[in-house]
Amino acid sequence: MGVGGVGERPWQHGGVSFPTASDLHLLADEALRACGADPIGNGPHPARTPITGAVLGGAAATVDPDTAAARATEAFTAWRTVPGPVRGELVRRLGEQLRLHKADLARLVTLEAGKIESEALGEVQEMIDICDYAVGLSRQLQGLTIASERPGHRLMEQWHPLGPTVVITAFNFPVAVWAWNAALALVCGNPVIWKPSEATPLTALATHALFEKAAATMDVPAHLNQVVLGDGSVGAALVADTRLPLVSATGSTAMGRKVGPVVAQRFGRSILELGGNNAAIIAPSADAELVVRGVTFAAAGTAGQRCTSLRRLLVHRSRVDEVLGRLTTAFASLPIGSPLEKGTLVGPLINTAAHDKMQAALAAARADGGTVVVGGERHFADQVPDAAYVRPAIVAMPGQTHIVHEETFAPILYAMTYDDFEEALALHNEVPQGLASSIFTTDLREAERFLSAAGSDCGIANVNIGPSGAEIGGAFGGEKTTGGGRESGSDSWKAYMRRATNTINYSNALPLAQGVEFG
Ligand code: NAD
Repeated sequence: MGVGGVGERPWQHGGVSFPTASDLHLLADEALRACGADPIGNGPHPARTPITGAVLGGAAATVDPDTAAARATEAFTAWRTVPGPVRGELVRRLGEQLRLHKADLARLVTLEAGKIESEALGEVQEMIDICDYAVGLSRQLQGLTIASERPGHRLMEQWHPLGPTVVITAFNFPVAVWAWNAALALVCGNPVIWKPSEATPLTALATHALFEKAAATMDVPAHLNQVVLGDGSVGAALVADTRLPLVSATGSTAMGRKVGPVVAQRFGRSILELGGNNAAIIAPSADAELVVRGVTFAAAGTAGQRCTSLRRLLVHRSRVDEVLGRLTTAFASLPIGSPLEKGTLVGPLINTAAHDKMQAALAAARADGGTVVVGGERHFADQVPDAAYVRPAIVAMPGQTHIVHEETFAPILYAMTYDDFEEALALHNEVPQGLASSIFTTDLREAERFLSAAGSDCGIANVNIGPSGAEIGGAFGGEKTTGGGRESGSDSWKAYMRRATNTINYSNALPLAQGVEFG
């Protein structure tokens, strides 16, 4: 990503033209049709674009939660006995559809979530990658054979499908998070019920249409994936449904606080992927080039609307002036604008409410003694008053005050100074969230201490790379108020299955375990 030296752009000399509502409507309709979904109508679910704030129309009503649960339950009875590799074949075909329609789906991600083209394409690529991963996994849902303490006995474990899986997704990864969950759930033998964000109904319907195209090429049960559009109350109905043993919910910690107890109360299983407050430690030996590029992408990419966005910078006192100086220059030259325009690196916030929250956080930071060294101001408000474009901000803070402990879902990077490594680690781990973290250092001891049991307390800990932009091969998720869930790679698949431990006696005797004599 280029973070400096950007050439002159239209908005820099007085204005940028934004597409009209009908242009945007047309773009959305083209992409929907290409994916095999219905064009935008006047249904009950408003479809809106953060590019201008325009309402594009209304997505059609979908199935209600109760009917979806009943259909998924029926689909499960058939799907759970289909061999894993055959289930994998369905996901392979889904991956083919995603490859064919990568640009169409990415266009909808741009229109509804406001991502720039390369990030939107990257999100769909992530879906393709997880499909590939899940296809391989469909032949590797392996249990152990365990040494039995009894003669003539075999002890083993099997992994069986768990049941219909609820996937609740946030606006900022409107399709990748569904794919992380759905690809795994499907190869594990579970039908999926998807409650997407209210902000991204069209993207969800297009994805579902691609899934249905893939499913239509095979003899598979109906309703292996269902989309249930609606607000949090629709999600809550699914969360409470005892027919649905697994709820994978991605969103704010506030949402997780509601969902987690309800699922626990009914002894369901949950994967909670909640808010982060991610930091980078900039050590005395840090490579300045890596810092500027890594920090700028992690803090300003996706307009600071990634769960893994960099929000806290802990800089060694010896490097503060240099690092903040260079970052200020980089932030000041970031091209802000319509994500449909080539060259834009910072698109819009999801809505004007997000802008209001950003301004409130900046005011709180100033009240705590912070200084906004760059950014924070709104752009294009006269042209697109219903959209929210901002320059990503860096705020020099006197310490890690209350506002720094909160996740504000906007591009604010709080910079703080430290003197010794233990102090940096303590500051790093002080916040309630525990998602992603990083250290920039060329000191091997510091790097290893950061990764050790006494180091970062996050689910993701990186060295010489920012906290955002995870690969699908690793397990993704975080600790503390981030919820503790893991999805995507490594052994995350086990959360989608139930484990059965089996003892088989192939002898003529009946020895009891632990040498117990009974009669
Ligand atoms: P949000 O919490 O407002 O909404 C997320 C989803 O939860 C939406 O689909 C919403 O309708 C649903 N929901 C809300 N209340 C519910 C309830 N009571 N029961 C069931 N479902 C309910 O989040 P958002 O604004 O869409 O997304 C931003 C947040 O998501 C940030 O906090 C971000 O850090 C987090 N996020 C986390 C991850 C992760 O993997 N840890 C990934 C992406 C986003």
